[in-house]
Amino acid sequence: MGSLNRRDMLQLSAACGLGAAIGEASVSGPAIAAGSADESVKPKQTPITTRMFWTWDHSTEWALNRLGAHTHGSCNEYGRSTQSFLDDYTALLRWCGRHDVDAVVVWGLLRDSHGGLESAKRLCDVAAEENVRLLCGVGLNAYGGVYYEGDSPYNLERHLQASPELYAVDAEGNSTNFSIDAVGNRVRLSNTSTPGPRGFYHACPSRPENQEFVAESLEWLFKNLQLGGVQIETGDTGVCQCSLCRDRRKHPADSFSWEDMALMYPLAADAVRSISPDAWILCETYSHPEPYIGPKAAPGFGDGKAAWADESLEKFPREVFVQWVADRYLRQGDPDRVWTDKGRVSGKGLRHVMRAHVGTDWGWGAFRGEVALEWIAKMVQQSVSSGFEGIALFGEVSPFHTGAELNYLALSDFGSSSNPGSDPELFVERVAAPLLGGLANASDFVRFAGLMDSRFPEKRKEIPAAITSICTRLPSLPPDAARRWCWLANKLASFAYV
Ligand SMILES: [Zn+2]
Repeated sequence: MGSLNRRDMLQLSAACGLGAAIGEASVSGPAIAAGSADESVKPKQTPITTRMFWTWDHSTEWALNRLGAHTHGSCNEYGRSTQSFLDDYTALLRWCGRHDVDAVVVWGLLRDSHGGLESAKRLCDVAAEENVRLLCGVGLNAYGGVYYEGDSPYNLERHLQASPELYAVDAEGNSTNFSIDAVGNRVRLSNTSTPGPRGFYHACPSRPENQEFVAESLEWLFKNLQLGGVQIETGDTGVCQCSLCRDRRKHPADSFSWEDMALMYPLAADAVRSISPDAWILCETYSHPEPYIGPKAAPGFGDGKAAWADESLEKFPREVFVQWVADRYLRQGDPDRVWTDKGRVSGKGLRHVMRAHVGTDWGWGAFRGEVALEWIAKMVQQSVSSGFEGIALFGEVSPFHTGAELNYLALSDFGSSSNPGSDPELFVERVAAPLLGGLANASDFVRFAGLMDSRFPEKRKEIPAAITSICTRLPSLPPDAARRWCWLANKLASFAYV
């Protein structure tokens, strides 16, 4: 795709002025090269240039009325069929192709239980047809490695089982591996336990054998699949505290380590680029860019940026995407967690992506399929003014569910040339109204959806009246709009049902 992604090309061809409409949102991201033979047509620069979905295979459910999807969590077993896996992601990739979403991250892309390499190849073909980048989620010291689950030499657990001295250990030299039981407690696993049900296994990043395994696995991945790129992580479920790791690190690390990222991301990027120079490489930070102000010695997942993070960011490979987490600074209303000017990100050869867990069951008061326009707008506005060029949301829920559909369309619209200021009202007027029976109906839809917000439980008293109001308007609506309203009525009813 070169330096112009598909959205840029569409906007270049649309060729309408933007600058004056941007308002307070500063323009960020890399300059877009002039792409038109007509010099009078100025290339357009939009506040957001890159849009992505983030998914786990086991929770992605775009092919409807099939068995086995999870509605929550990571590292679950896969419960659907190979055909469902293919159908789920084919539908998702085709939607992205039609709605200007540039890339889809798949965690669990390679599993024996949904067809391994052959299924992944078929999805790479669909992605190519749609001009969407398929990105494989790859844990470097955790999360299964390149081949997430199965009998492959590039599966991290197989690698560690064969050489148990390469496992990560805690400060006492014990295993850091664990599984999660039925009520959510961590259960420690011995180093030699057999995987399945899925456990969390960790490798020591200081061991050269593990570093070589990462490089070799990534080279194999890109030799065998026409991927658009990778999202890489070093792991946020515990770090190795062996003497090699302790001697190497200058700073504290608890659930994840900035210094481990600085060690592993460059060698992973080198391996990927040795085979696929144009691959997108998305490096997770587990952090918000606002400087962290205690009380923990090392900030945890979703907390602000560690004081020593910039040192590590300097060592990240150039031209990668650096991915950050918005949630704790987005919707909790915590006075100690405010995104200020100190939370700006620096270009310096890095491209920045903000993601949030809105519309999922991943905590922070959200639920799967909620209508989260307000939060997505705030996230995009703050990201643009803080130097970001990319936005990522979870994409596991089918847009048949209207809450997810509206969120996804907002991802497509906010920060674009049509809505550079990410104005939710403009979105409702232009994008939601035609889907929901006109502007007045669309405004009511968003207001009624807000009655489910867990932060304001008293609002749920208004749900019965809202359902009555929905029922009275259904006969006058076109069928597709009525279907969307039925989704809302039923969703609201589920909160009032005893
Ligand atoms: Zn170690």
